[in-house]
Amino acid sequence: MSFSDRSWMYRRLTADGFINPEFVDGVDAFIHYACSQPAYMDGSKIRCPCKKCKHKCFLFIDEVHLHLLIKGFVPNYFQWTRHGEPLIASTSRRTEEHKTMNINENDVEDGGGRNLAEGSENSYRQMVHDGVGYTFDNYGENVDEEPNPQAKQFFDLLQSTDRELWPNCETMMQLSSIARILNIKSEGHISERSFDKILEWYNESLPVDHTMVDSFYNMKKLIRGLGLPMEKIDCCRIGCMLYWGDDMNLDQCKFCGQPRFKPKKISIKQKLVPWKLMYYFPLTPKLQRLYASEVTASHMRWHAKHEQEDGVMTHPTDALAWKHFNDTHVDFAVDSRNIRLGLSMDGFQPFSQSSQQYSSWPILITPYNLPPWMCMKEAYMFLTVIVPGPTNPKQKVDVFLQPLITKLQQLWDYGVQTYDVSKK
Ligand SMILES: [Zn+2]
Ligand SMILES: [Zn+2]
Repeated sequence: MSFSDRSWMYRRLTADGFINPEFVDGVDAFIHYACSQPAYMDGSKIRCPCKKCKHKCFLFIDEVHLHLLIKGFVPNYFQWTRHGEPLIASTSRRTEEHKTMNINENDVEDGGGRNLAEGSENSYRQMVHDGVGYTFDNYGENVDEEPNPQAKQFFDLLQSTDRELWPNCETMMQLSSIARILNIKSEGHISERSFDKILEWYNESLPVDHTMVDSFYNMKKLIRGLGLPMEKIDCCRIGCMLYWGDDMNLDQCKFCGQPRFKPKKISIKQKLVPWKLMYYFPLTPKLQRLYASEVTASHMRWHAKHEQEDGVMTHPTDALAWKHFNDTHVDFAVDSRNIRLGLSMDGFQPFSQSSQQYSSWPILITPYNLPPWMCMKEAYMFLTVIVPGPTNPKQKVDVFLQPLITKLQQLWDYGVQTYDVSKK
């Protein structure tokens, strides 16, 4: 089914501010449909999908009618899943699956966790999909099998978006509560110890059968699936080389001969500690995430679509260098989904208050596919490498760039399979 015939849902008013007759007819049709699904009703009441109620309460038909005319529908509710309409998936196999799955109301949007890009009104559920991507899209062909740990983590997360904070709590879900409280922790710089104490008190004040997590550690464990990967790589004390790739298992520097690890204190069973360490945040998952999220996926083709004005430069696409690149690499330029990146680095002092001189060098990458009002925003400047201090790496900076450059070369030579949500 296409949703184009439901565009009336978000055209409540006409240009001169009157109620659109098409909308009034549509609302009647909606109510008629909702009343034909007794399994989704509470007696003669139906869930109100207006902007204010957001499906949270069951109301009489007249009230729902009035709410919809005054306030309009919740955003993105093209598919009336909360009122008994089956979730339409992209293949007929899935449609069949959903039909059989839509028995229980809680399972309606769940559908086993597949294809929720369209018509899903749970933004946290969307967040999980954006974060994890659609890697598990086809999971469920063999339902008897235990999911692998990664898939299990994904399903745990997905379930937490629909798990009520306590039975019959309609306003708070487990994941949304955790996300909000973690946000407060990070904005307020609350220490882990204090945070755990606040949580302890909070859990005591909730009903006994609540689903709130009891510690910061367990919260992190639950939402870990949303995070991006990070690698720690040992390096030579004065920055001659990385213990990475073929040199992963060396114990001393190939060039200056200095040891890799700090000497162990005898008789203590301690882990080996390297003299110096760099952080590398893999680039590919971040780029894939840009295509997995509906918010960004279509913008990733902006560079090819936007209109250029002669003599005005608003974006690197307007520059001669960009055009020259397109002329020299025609194969690359022909697909607008290929990614152009900008790389920049600068030194900064993380401990500016102390008298000790220490500077580290973050390396940032920006996708220039995005329009100017996005590519200069913090959210799209990807921290990819942190070159450790205490001094400027100067000409040795290329040592620290190795993991990144190798990855970029692979992307250039072979590319990587990615799910583009805007083109499906
Ligand atoms: Zn309402
Ligand atoms: Zn060295």
